[in-house]
Amino acid sequence: EPLVEVRGIGKRYGNIIALHDVSTTVGAGEVTCVLGDNGAGKSTFIKILAGAHDYTEGELLVDGKPTHFASPRQALDAGIATVYQDLAVVPLMPVWRNFFLGSEATKDVGPVKRLDVKFMKETTKAELAAMGIDLRDVDQAIGTLSGGERQCVAIARAVYFGARVLILDEPTAALGVKQSGVVLRYIAKARERGLGVVFITHNPHHAHPVGDRFVLLRRGRSMGDFTKDEVSLAE
Ligand code: ADP
Ligand code: ADP
Repeated sequence: EPLVEVRGIGKRYGNIIALHDVSTTVGAGEVTCVLGDNGAGKSTFIKILAGAHDYTEGELLVDGKPTHFASPRQALDAGIATVYQDLAVVPLMPVWRNFFLGSEATKDVGPVKRLDVKFMKETTKAELAAMGIDLRDVDQAIGTLSGGERQCVAIARAVYFGARVLILDEPTAALGVKQSGVVLRYIAKARERGLGVVFITHNPHHAHPVGDRFVLLRRGRSMGDFTKDEVSLAE
């Protein structure tokens, strides 16, 4: 059973049909790529999965159960974490502080005592290392990291805090070839670890090597949901 399934999903804003009849699945250890140009409906699709907007047609199933998220918090509680392109990081704060930003570890509750700095630094370093990013110094301001590394920190953070499904909003769009490579390798690692990944991109060259399924959007309509073999044959 897939972690997430969308069946003929769609969204209207008043008279505007932003998204219509999109179907796909997100399985554990699979990367579902959502491809489309500006205005194709990618953001609308993200907002539905992230719980920021409700859908107006079709069905969203999480663990096989029909679901309407009332808020982003509810999507997160269901294990669906979204990493937006403009990362919610504080550039001047250390990497480890950003990693734990807003978490229980920075409050005086739970098993971890308030500001257990050693624990937070070691965890940040270990989580990044497990995914192939070797940071010498987690004390450096996150703003000094490359764009690719910052994306990876945000993804690592979501994984550490229990995401089963990662929604990645154009994580390579603002990056050069080398930095995109860093992020694509990171996506492959997340997949190896059994996460379901929704990779939103307008770049087929980024999607193809890491993707298992491919949803092609055009002007809010789905052109279909293809497997890797199917898109390869179409080339
Ligand atoms: P993409 O992210 O692929 O660029 P969007 O999901 O942002 O596409 O937009 C799909 C279509 O829906 C566009 O025609 C856009 O103008 C329209 N749209 C998106 N959000 C809204 C909104 N909040 N109100 C009205 N129309 C919207
Ligand atoms: P939110 O629902 O999180 O407040 P939206 O992205 O829906 O944010 O934007 C808020 C408002 O801005 C929408 O209700 C819509 O009127 C307008 N809007 C946003 N994006 C678009 C768009 N692409 N085309 C037309 N109107 C838009």
